[in-house]
Amino acid sequence: MSPANEDRPVDAPEPLENNAATTPAVTPVGDRRPGANSAGGPVPIPASSAPGNPPPASAGGILDAILSSKSELFRGSREVLRDSYVPSRLPHREQQIRQVTEILAPALRGDLPSNLLIYGKIGTGKTAVVAQVRQDLQKRTDLAANLTFITLNCGNIDTPYSLLQTIANGFAKGEADRIPTGWSLDRVQSGMRRLMDTRGGILLLVLDEVDRLVARSGDNILYTLSQINTELETARLALIGISNDLKFTNHLDARVRSRLNEEKVLFPPYDAPQLQDILRDRAREAFRDGVVDPGVVERCAAYAALENGDARRALALLRLAAEMAERDHAKRITPDHVVKAKNRLEQDIIVDCCRTLPPHCKVLLYAILQSFERRRTGVLTGEVYDSYRRLAERLGLQPLHARSISNYVSELESLGLIRATIVSRGRGGRTREIIVDVPISETMPALEEDPLIAPVGRPKSRGQLLLTNFDNPARTDTF
Ligand code: ADP
Ligand code: MG
Repeated sequence: MSPANEDRPVDAPEPLENNAATTPAVTPVGDRRPGANSAGGPVPIPASSAPGNPPPASAGGILDAILSSKSELFRGSREVLRDSYVPSRLPHREQQIRQVTEILAPALRGDLPSNLLIYGKIGTGKTAVVAQVRQDLQKRTDLAANLTFITLNCGNIDTPYSLLQTIANGFAKGEADRIPTGWSLDRVQSGMRRLMDTRGGILLLVLDEVDRLVARSGDNILYTLSQINTELETARLALIGISNDLKFTNHLDARVRSRLNEEKVLFPPYDAPQLQDILRDRAREAFRDGVVDPGVVERCAAYAALENGDARRALALLRLAAEMAERDHAKRITPDHVVKAKNRLEQDIIVDCCRTLPPHCKVLLYAILQSFERRRTGVLTGEVYDSYRRLAERLGLQPLHARSISNYVSELESLGLIRATIVSRGRGGRTREIIVDVPISETMPALEEDPLIAPVGRPKSRGQLLLTNFDNPARTDTF
């Protein structure tokens, strides 16, 4: 029941909490997704702010503690509704918990488990299940003495070098053992093997979001790790890869694929009734009795079920709905607060999504928004290309070729920011008509804040216009 446990590298029997080298890898998973951190939520209360402990030192923590203590809605810490919180029960994941436990349990007998790949869409409980299985294994302290369990989130680590160094230092027993920055890659690798052998026994290495590592830096590290047992003397390593990308193994070299795939466990998306069960558990823990109106949990679950059955999204909606209620000084959370929360969450996600586009794609999107704002009707691709080219030139950028821009139109469409429909233009000509699928009033200012777009942005004082079909609840696109 401790927060952020799955993100904290822990090994048995000695916890590694003081191991500073592992900190780059321990940012909560939820923070990496567009919008996950900008949803207006409070800074999580660190564990030290629990009753009886000294007050938290950080400004955010103090603020949060004050807010919590005054809240008429929250029972205590808001941390309960955060992604990083590991609940005591994970409804509808019994089968996956059993499968993962069965695969890893041989480690308690000193046998090397098979490598394991866990895969499923975002928010399907993969990280939470592995954290819970780890806690269960480590409770068997009589047997777990020869077991070292390390969890890393690859999504937060930039380079293969820092990943290897982080893994290696996860196995270090003390400060003196740690591998400093500056060693050659070869030296880091042999240092890592030495640290692993010094540990000895069975080593379980969880690489969470391993798909992001491979997308960014290829599968060399996985190759190195998957054949490391041939070079280890006293230790043996099993890999547990967690992937949000269902097709992740397609990108792997055949040898790596067959090694990592020894066992596979699929996490299917949750449906609306399952999400309701998950939310009810959390709501009971998070809120005072009687403050959640009927329909609130159902509505959060229904929205999140449309969004690929993502429990993270469902929890974010519930948390934001509570904050909307607090902002209204309401005594209860109502379904209307969920509707407000949904709009807010999606806007945040859209804005973050725009911020992370490649430069020319941003200019293109800005050109589309400008045309759409001016004309209030669909815009044809040819006109969009002309506006893009003019903007790019004004910004001193060499405009990309029309074909690349056409690819970017498709990318913006697949992100759900625009919709493009084919229209015929007499005499056999066909083109695409583009309409904007985001609130212009939010998206244009967000782009204008970008130093790239700012020189061609509108003057700040100008009124903004909301032109969108964005608030259509039937909408199912995701970002
Ligand atoms: P994933 O790793 O698949 O993206 P997470 O394990 O991070 O998903 O889950 C996202 C959020 O939803 C976390 O806060 C987690 O505690 C919660 N969650 C997911 N599945 C369940 C479940 N079955 N019961 C309770 N909470 C869950
Ligand atoms: Mg995860």
